[in-house]
Amino acid sequence: MSNEAISIISPLFNEEENIEQHYHEICSVIKKLKHFNSYEIIMVNDGSSDNSLNILKNLAKQDPNLKIISFTRNFGHEAASSAGLKYASGKVAVLIDADRQDPPELILEFEKEFLNGYHIVYGQRKKRLKETFIKKITSKAFYPIFKWITKVDMPKDTGDFCLLSRKALDAINQLPENNRFVRGLIYWTGLPKKAIFFIRRSRGGGNTKYNYSKLTIFALENIISFSIVPIYFIIFFSLFIIMTCSIGTITALILKLLGFVAITGWTSIIISMLFLFSFTFLFLGILGLYIGKIFQEIKQRPLFLINEKINFEEEIINYSYASNNKFHIRSNL
Ligand code: UDP
Ligand code: MG
Repeated sequence: MSNEAISIISPLFNEEENIEQHYHEICSVIKKLKHFNSYEIIMVNDGSSDNSLNILKNLAKQDPNLKIISFTRNFGHEAASSAGLKYASGKVAVLIDADRQDPPELILEFEKEFLNGYHIVYGQRKKRLKETFIKKITSKAFYPIFKWITKVDMPKDTGDFCLLSRKALDAINQLPENNRFVRGLIYWTGLPKKAIFFIRRSRGGGNTKYNYSKLTIFALENIISFSIVPIYFIIFFSLFIIMTCSIGTITALILKLLGFVAITGWTSIIISMLFLFSFTFLFLGILGLYIGKIFQEIKQRPLFLINEKINFEEEIINYSYASNNKFHIRSNL
């Protein structure tokens, strides 16, 4: 046993049905750890509107190692995970969802591989229980597309469930951007990683916070915030169209000069026009997304605002993490 600490981080939003069991499952796993003999559990309440915060507060009264960060409102899963990573004080940190989909016993395997020298140890899903066909297909498609466009080697079928060494944590925490796709940032570091295969359980209670439109926006935003390859795609596509049109025009001219009848047809003109217009709008949309991202970044708003922190050492002052990577001290909100 060392005297190094492990930080277990769970972002949560309206998880009143899962918190207690999730907490107890984590506690029983912590007792079985071989290397880490001290711990902290950081639960980040992402503006829940149900009874989650009260449940957390009751648990935190009995366990000083259970630390709570409570946001002023819902800032999103990525902001909640980022807050947990920022405040983690352990030698390693484990990110685990609070909905009981990720089995905490896997943390024991994570610990073993960390001791073997890996900086990122992650759960890779062998099987997804009770997930719809569309969700399975779309998540299967997302990973190769993300990897192809961004060149970040993010393994397929992974969630946020992973262990990060202090080196990985510091690398992620120092990144200044506000648009944070935590999973992407983890693999962006390029640190040695190891997969542990597992079967993802179905949710303990409640429903997923991600519907299909949210997931589509999430996937698009993540690709846009990691790469400018889509802009190159626009340029190459436009060059291809210009070349094809030039060849077509020259051919039509030659045919005309040689006395052949020019190719006619209202339908073909309308189809090609609609085709080109739809691409023009699509490309404008892609460019708009990049401009939107710049707009969000230059505002330099903090990623989240904290209303309450419980069982942390500094109780009077609240901190929030701003995009310029500085801690902003603010009075109690
Ligand atoms: N979550 C959060 N803020 C949100 C949405 C979700 O903190 O705005 C938490 C949620 O409580 C859970 C984790 O993020 O612990 C993953 O969310 P969810 O289970 O809804 O996603 P899924 O597993 O369906 O991808
Ligand atoms: Mg879930």
